[in-house]
Amino acid sequence: MRLDFYLSHVTDLARKAAKIAASKKRVTVNGEIVKKANYMVQEGDVICLDDVQLAWPSEGYYVMHKPAGYVCANHDPEHPVVLDLLSSHLGQELNIVGRLDKDTTGLLLLTTDGQWLHRITSPKSDCGKRYRMTLVEPISDEALKELEEGVMLNGERDPTLPAIAERISDCEIYLTIQEGKYHQVKRMLAAVGNKVELLHRDQIGQLTLDADIQAGEFRELTAAEVAYF
Ligand code: URA
Repeated sequence: MRLDFYLSHVTDLARKAAKIAASKKRVTVNGEIVKKANYMVQEGDVICLDDVQLAWPSEGYYVMHKPAGYVCANHDPEHPVVLDLLSSHLGQELNIVGRLDKDTTGLLLLTTDGQWLHRITSPKSDCGKRYRMTLVEPISDEALKELEEGVMLNGERDPTLPAIAERISDCEIYLTIQEGKYHQVKRMLAAVGNKVELLHRDQIGQLTLDADIQAGEFRELTAAEVAYF
C-alpha cells in the first residue's frame, strides 16, 4: 500500500502530515530513507518513523456506494471496475464481498480479510441482503407471497429460500434474501412474471448504507460494524 496511507493507519499522522514526515526524511523502509508518499510498502518491510519501528496494519474493511455502470471484478476489458474507485487510492489488495450486477447500485463491502468475506458470502450464512427495486409491472400480493415462500429459478433444482417481500408502492418493493445466486433478484422477479427496472441494495445484515455516502464514495467500517459479521 502507499506509504502515506500506511503511516496514516498505524500512527496518529493524517495523510498530509504523513507526506510531510516522509519528505522531511523521517521515514525509512528497510533501512533506506523514503521521501515519496506514493512509495509502495508491503508486509515484511521494516518501516520506521523517527527510528521507531512500526507494525503492519490490521485488515481493511470498507463499505462503498456502488454506482451504476461499474463491474464488480478485478479487471474488465470494457467497463470500469469498482476496485478502480478505491484500490489505487488505498493501495490495499481488496476483495469484493458478494457481487452486484453492472446496473445495480448500492451497498458493497470490500475487505482484505478472507475469513470475514467467507462468513458473509458462504451459502450457510444467514445474513440477509435487502434490495429496493422498481418493477416494470405492478406487483400483486400473490406474487409477493410467492417470493416470500420461495420460487423456482430457471436452471435450479430447489426453490429459493424463504425471503421477506415488502410493498412500497404498486411498482416498488423491498426484497430481503439470504442466498446470493447469480442474478438472483432479477430471476426471482422473472419467476413471478415481472421485470426489474432499477435495483439498489441498501442493507446487508445489520449494516445499512449511509444516506450521506454518494455513489462512488466509500468509507472504512468501524470495529463495531466489522463485528456484525
Ligand atoms: N440480484 C440480482 O439480480 N442482481 C444483483 O446485482 C444483485 C442481486
